[in-house]
Amino acid sequence: MPQPLSITGLHKTYANGTNALRGVDLEVSPGEFVVLVGLSGSGKSTLLRCVNRLVEPSEGRILFEGEDVCAAGSAGLRNIRRRIGMIFQQFNLLRNLSVLTNVLSGRLGYLGLGASLAPWRNQDLVEEAHVSLSRVGLKHLADQKVRNLSGGQQQRVAIARTLMQRPHLILADEPVASLDPATADSVMRHLGDLNRDEGITVLCSLHFLSLARKYGSRVIALKDGRIVFDGLPADIDDTRFRAIYGDDAEEVEIR
Ligand code: ADP
Repeated sequence: MPQPLSITGLHKTYANGTNALRGVDLEVSPGEFVVLVGLSGSGKSTLLRCVNRLVEPSEGRILFEGEDVCAAGSAGLRNIRRRIGMIFQQFNLLRNLSVLTNVLSGRLGYLGLGASLAPWRNQDLVEEAHVSLSRVGLKHLADQKVRNLSGGQQQRVAIARTLMQRPHLILADEPVASLDPATADSVMRHLGDLNRDEGITVLCSLHFLSLARKYGSRVIALKDGRIVFDGLPADIDDTRFRAIYGDDAEEVEIR
């Protein structure tokens, strides 16, 4: 199996001069569930978005399954992005359309123009969308408008949409930050199932260490754009916790 991700010397300086990433090196193996933690502003979102070039890296090298992401032209990048699913904190769904239509839209990157205008005419695709919805326990809501669903259900629709890409890697940017703890746990459980059952590699930023400990096979902590911890969730002791979050961290909030 090709190595999902190899990042060397990654820097990102935004146009306003902010150094969001200051030399990140990261090797991710197939099937890992890597959780990114760190204070707000530490560079987690920038790192995730550099991987599929939603944010353009300033310097460094990113290999996805051996392919150079930064050197890819538009066709090459499209091809890479098909294999990388992305989950956002705010779900990024089309709220006035049905759950099924949203899930089908996950396949648009693969279809020609004709099919992409009416994907519901393709029975195989519709069947696959129902299977994806079943994977996140939402088959019964296929015909509902997204806007009528709870936040947790909407994030599960987003996961089902991503599954339609048959992704090799899922990038999840604070996927449960806007959900209550019980709902957050249920969404994380679905991501964990996909990682375990389908072998999809996951790179996921999380605010709460408790969730990182529960779902991550590996934790990477960022501070001021650099990696300050890379290891097993169980190895984050009090000293490391303070190194990551600082002495003033609101422990009950994060732990
Ligand atoms: P995190 O996801 O850990 O909260 P971010 O990657 O969002 O961190 O941000 C890292 C740093 O980059 C912060 O200082 C943030 O203000 C800055 N930043 C993020 N996006 C932009 C942008 N589009 N333009 C300028 N600065 C940005």
